[in-house]
Amino acid sequence: MSDPAERTILLATTNPGKAAELAGLLASRGWNSLRPDQAGIQIEVAEDGETFAENSTHKALAFAELTEFPVLADDSGLEVDVLHGAPGVRTARLAPGSDADRIEALLSIMHGIPAPLRTAQFRSVVTIARRGTVLAVGEGTLRGTILSSPRGESGFGYDPVFVPAGRESTLAQLGIEAKNSISHRRAAVLAALEELERG
Ligand code: IMP
Repeated sequence: MSDPAERTILLATTNPGKAAELAGLLASRGWNSLRPDQAGIQIEVAEDGETFAENSTHKALAFAELTEFPVLADDSGLEVDVLHGAPGVRTARLAPGSDADRIEALLSIMHGIPAPLRTAQFRSVVTIARRGTVLAVGEGTLRGTILSSPRGESGFGYDPVFVPAGRESTLAQLGIEAKNSISHRRAAVLAALEELERG
C-alpha cells in the first residue's frame, strides 16, 4: 500500500469541524483523506434513522455510490443520562440554526438540573464502505458532564458545554489535538480502521 491513492478515504461529512477531526485521526494511522468538495461530490443525505449505526451506514453507502475511494461516515450525538439518553440520534435537530442555538436549547432543557446529575456521553459510530459494501464499523463513547454555560472556542457542536470525565476544561478549551486523544470519534475511527486493515 505505498500508492497514496490506495490509502485515501473520502469523508462523508460536510461538517468542517468533524472533517478536521477525522482527517487528523486518519493521518495518525497513515491514511489520507478527502472532503466531498475536494472530490467534486455534493449530496444531502437524510439522517432520519433510529440508531447511530443506521444513519452512519446509510451515509457511507450513499457517498460510496459516487466514488471509487473507500468512504468513511461518522454519525454521532449526545446522550444525557437524566434525559434517558436524549437527544441521541436527534442531537443535530435539537433546534434549528447554529451550534450556539442548539447549545442554548440543551441548556434550557437542562435548566435547574444540579451538577452531579448533569452526566452524559458522546457516542460516535463510524462506517467504512466501498461501492455497495460495508467494510468496517467502529463505535466509541466519551463520558463527561454538561456545564450550565459555554466555555472555549475550538471544536464544534456541543464542545463548549462538555467537560470530559477527569478533566476540568471543556472539549472546546482542550483543542483538537487533546480532543482527538480521548474522543468518542477517535475510538470509533481506530476500531473501524483496525477492522478494515485486518481485511
Ligand atoms: P451528525 O453526526 O453530523 O448528525 O451530528 C450530530 C450532532 O451531534 C450535531 O449537532 C453535532 O454538532 C453533535 N456532535 C457530534 N459529535 C460532536 C462532538 O465531538 N462534539 C460536539 N458535538 C458533537
